[in-house]
Amino acid sequence: MSAVQSISGKGHAANAATYDVVVVGAGFAGMYMLHRLRKQGLSVRVYEQGGDVGGTWYWNRYPGARCDVESMQYSYSFSDELQQQWDWSERYAPQPEILKYANHVADRFKLRPDIQLGTRVDSAAFDERAGVWSVTTSDGKTVTAKYVVLATGCLSNARMPDIEGLSDFKGQVYHTGHWPHEQIDFTGLRVGVIGTGSSAIQSVPVIAEQARHLTVFQRTANFSIPARNAALTPEERDSFRSNYPELRRIAREESRNGIVQELPDRGALEDGDNVRRAKYETRWTRGGLTFMGVYNNLVLDKAANDTAANFVRDKIAQIVSDPSTAKLLQPDNHPIGAKRICVDTDYYATFNRANVTLVDIRSNPIERILPYSVRTAGKEGIRDYEVDALVLATGFDAMTGSVAKIDIRGRNGLTLNAKWAEGPRTYLGLMSAGFPNLFIITGPGSPSVLSNMIVSIEQHVDWIADCIATMRHRGLDTIEAGKDAEDRWVAHVNEVAQGTLYPQANSWYMGANIPGKPQIFMPYIGGVGVYRQICNDVAAKGYEGFVLTGAERQRAAS
Ligand SMILES: Cc1cc2nc3c(=O)[nH]c(=O)nc-3n(C[C@H](O)[C@H](O)[C@H](O)COP(=O)(O)OP(=O)(O)OC[C@H]3O[C@@H](n4cnc5c(N)ncnc54)[C@H](O)[C@@H]3O)c2cc1C
Repeated sequence: MSAVQSISGKGHAANAATYDVVVVGAGFAGMYMLHRLRKQGLSVRVYEQGGDVGGTWYWNRYPGARCDVESMQYSYSFSDELQQQWDWSERYAPQPEILKYANHVADRFKLRPDIQLGTRVDSAAFDERAGVWSVTTSDGKTVTAKYVVLATGCLSNARMPDIEGLSDFKGQVYHTGHWPHEQIDFTGLRVGVIGTGSSAIQSVPVIAEQARHLTVFQRTANFSIPARNAALTPEERDSFRSNYPELRRIAREESRNGIVQELPDRGALEDGDNVRRAKYETRWTRGGLTFMGVYNNLVLDKAANDTAANFVRDKIAQIVSDPSTAKLLQPDNHPIGAKRICVDTDYYATFNRANVTLVDIRSNPIERILPYSVRTAGKEGIRDYEVDALVLATGFDAMTGSVAKIDIRGRNGLTLNAKWAEGPRTYLGLMSAGFPNLFIITGPGSPSVLSNMIVSIEQHVDWIADCIATMRHRGLDTIEAGKDAEDRWVAHVNEVAQGTLYPQANSWYMGANIPGKPQIFMPYIGGVGVYRQICNDVAAKGYEGFVLTGAERQRAAS
């Protein structure tokens, strides 16, 4: 259905191509959205600023990049043939393989004709008279669409640090979230990595093996659990495949984070020291994100949380030979899990290598970048660390960054950025009042980044596709979040967050990594199963809390 269709006879930009739906972004969200909408016979145009599909997996090509939710679960479930036929090679597939998978999906479902690559959406304005969105793109074109779906990604707006002198640096500078396509070889080079979040934790061990010397600049130590990555055996793949219907159901409906795991039946303080330690040891040995699922109160009760945090701190001390380096690597300013837990392969052990240095930039902040070095100044006076290449592992303007870059104007010319100036406001993370027919996939106010994101993406795509089908079936023109429902949802999201330890960390969940960004806990912590039920109930009650306008209502009124 790549043909451009006219959906209304109402006047709007002359000669503008008109689609039923414009989708922004061709990562896992945008691709599945296109697939679902096309099946409904709709005309859809997807714009992707990158040179190919895959989103996160197109941009993040840094050494060591891989998923941290197991691939048998971090994959689409909408096509049984796909999940039965695709062979994941490892427990956590590396980036090139996930990108290959995204490309395979694009080809298999013949998505490419409706995806315009290398094209950024710059603005979207709602034309109240015509009841359509006018969308302008970086190729200078304007199209109109009845619906716009933002599949722009939660971690797609790479954050460049504001460090004085960065532009004077004479060596190569790489951002992990914008990694070049050609192979980067650090052999023989002195490399500096700035940042110690998930991307650094994945890349540091790999870069250390190549580089002559690696200096890691750490402001905040993060908790990381060993991945225990390994090749998947045919038996392991088969055991998933033969149980997929049930496993996917559990991930969607019963789990908190879209990952299948045994549900804890008790809190951490209900077990004695020895039992508790043995349980942590089992999870540590098994590896991966499910470490935090040992007990049911680790993100609720600080004393319970301390037991898990201390366990990991002890592990760091056991792994890292130099006590002062070990101390620096032990997180001390946030509860474990309150920032996204990292999953690594040999991260802590890498600091035992003779060619790796850890620099504490909390007490010795980076003062400036010089042409051939990084200068810190603080407790230890001024120090210059000579480097030939810099890797910025400084993360993303998460959840709202890519949305904010688009000039979005809803009713009465209200911009989304103005409306969200004090923090994002949505109803269910799906829509924002004043912006009719504009949907967000995994937006703030939904579980999104707290979950296996493909589970959350599929849930949102299905909900949005069903909503648009209902609108068409009932002859409705617009749907938008009701102001009261939105206020109640924002309050609910906030209330649930305040009942946990999450707000105690200066995390990107809170917007704390971006200077000047309002600090509000953005994702919904209620759990993916609970959240899905809420969304389904809302739809079943005729989209309760949303305002619907259009033909049916007019017919009823007359
Ligand atoms: C290194 C890394 C590892 C991750 N690992 C995991 C994991 O193991 N498990 C997990 O659940 N999640 C993981 N995530 C989160 C990951 O982002 C999601 O799992 C998922 O890939 C998001 O898909 P998406 O389509 O929503 O967004 P994205 O993949 O980010 O795609 C959005 C696309 O929209 C495009 N775009 C944005 N704005 C515009 C615009 N104005 N015009 C045109 N195009 C635009 C972007 O270029 C991008 O390609 C990881 C993230 C990173 C960065």
